[in-house]
Amino acid sequence: MTAGGPQAPPASAERGAFHGFVARYRRFLLTTHVNPDGDGLGSEVAMALWLRALGKSVRVLNDSPVPAAFTFLTRHHPIEVFEPELAEQLFDGAEALVVLDTSNRQRIGKLAPVLDRHAMPIAVVDHHVTHANGFGQVNVIEPEASATGEIVYGLIRESGCVLTTEAAESLYVALMTDTGSFRYSNTDSHAHRMAADLLGYGLDPQKIHAQVHSHASAARLRFFGEVLSALELYEGGRVVVLEASAEQFQKHGLAGADTENLVDMPRVVAGVEAVALFSEAEPGKVKVSLRSTGRIVVDQVASRLGGGGHPHAAGVMLRGTRADARSRILPELHRLIAALDEKRPEGGH
Ligand code: 5GP
Ligand code: MN
Repeated sequence: MTAGGPQAPPASAERGAFHGFVARYRRFLLTTHVNPDGDGLGSEVAMALWLRALGKSVRVLNDSPVPAAFTFLTRHHPIEVFEPELAEQLFDGAEALVVLDTSNRQRIGKLAPVLDRHAMPIAVVDHHVTHANGFGQVNVIEPEASATGEIVYGLIRESGCVLTTEAAESLYVALMTDTGSFRYSNTDSHAHRMAADLLGYGLDPQKIHAQVHSHASAARLRFFGEVLSALELYEGGRVVVLEASAEQFQKHGLAGADTENLVDMPRVVAGVEAVALFSEAEPGKVKVSLRSTGRIVVDQVASRLGGGGHPHAAGVMLRGTRADARSRILPELHRLIAALDEKRPEGGH
């Protein structure tokens, strides 16, 4: 990426503060949420390439490993995985921390207790509605952005830097994955304009899709098949419930992160308003993933129980059995669906 060129004015005071933050420090550490996705990783790599182009030193450290689908991004910039000694070393060496794609301090996982011991200036760049105040000195939190990558793209453009193909590819991965390949309700004209602009930097969208979407193992597909064949319908076919048991994870040799995209599949069933996946990769810990096909808002269901997310995609980790988790979530979905019926005009269908 090359520095210079005309600078656009920052789109907000918070973005202005972020540019000030970047100017103030030289050695940056970047991170994202546990079980990082394409948006968290793509945003990290694009941000790292940008900061390097500005002459900064940058390290990227995450709680959890990079999934196989995204390892190609690490060719553009290395992404390191938490080890206690490495974390101490990187926190000692950094002047400032940038947290991408989460504004919840706990979501940076094993880095949170290290951060407790290394007080340092923090900037948060995120698009989640939960914890919208952020925990940084600077908080660029824009829930209207389709992806955190869209905010990073805006920041880079404001700085006057010219994107390289590598940076454009990283941002495309962020945008493409968080919008479900431009299918979900967060897809808007900004997202499509950004995608069109990124294609101008010489990336190959077909190749990127293939890289991201051709990493499933046969075991994972069998596991999906098992879970999907047991899907349950509630609320007159408007709510789909999926369950994955610890025995199923074990039988197929899979981990929690392997459920990626599973909860999105029942969206294709006609008439579905919401999907809930209760996934128990470790006995006694149930990851709940919630999706809405656009009419009901599910993030409050998750945030009331300590999780969070977006209006139409949210999650929370609950202790206890899958039955306990269901009894906390399904009545809430019932209420939201019932409220849809009340909103319906007289005589409407
Ligand atoms: P997924 O169901 O794919 O894990 O997550 C969907 C959305 O909900 C993502 O935007 C993710 O950041 C958010 N999310 C998932 N699990 C949690 C959680 O335990 N806590 C919070 N705050 N957000 C979550
Ligand atoms: Mn995101």
